[in-house]
Amino acid sequence: MTEMEFVIQFHNKLMEVARLVTYYYNPCKIEGNSCLVDNPNPCCINSIFGKGVCPFMGEGCEYRNLGCSVWFCKTSLEKMDEKCKKIFYGLEELGEIYNLIGRPHLGEGYVGADKQNKTI
Ligand code: SF4
Ligand code: SF4
Repeated sequence: MTEMEFVIQFHNKLMEVARLVTYYYNPCKIEGNSCLVDNPNPCCINSIFGKGVCPFMGEGCEYRNLGCSVWFCKTSLEKMDEKCKKIFYGLEELGEIYNLIGRPHLGEGYVGADKQNKTI
């Protein structure tokens, strides 16, 4: 196995854990289109991929991106179950070993989420 192959599989495993934990804990309290912060969830509607609706937003997220999957806004983080929070911080740390995650980090604001101004 090459390092590249290993990193791809490692990324996919972290993604699987992130999705499982998100599904179980539902940290954003997504119901229909609404979340803890807005309706619909602004972090996908005005995303890190540019202004406007995220190009990967179809019926749900159609992109396997670890950075997005372990990122949650401050509001979500504040209300998050402690075990869930530990797992996401752990996933972030693991992802950083192979530069699979960039900024913004967990709880840092970006583009629309928590209605902050776009600064990055
Ligand atoms: S990639 Fe997915 S989670 Fe990330 S902003 Fe787009 S739709 Fe949302
Ligand atoms: S991370 Fe924040 S803004 Fe994004 S869906 Fe969750 S609660 Fe809503």
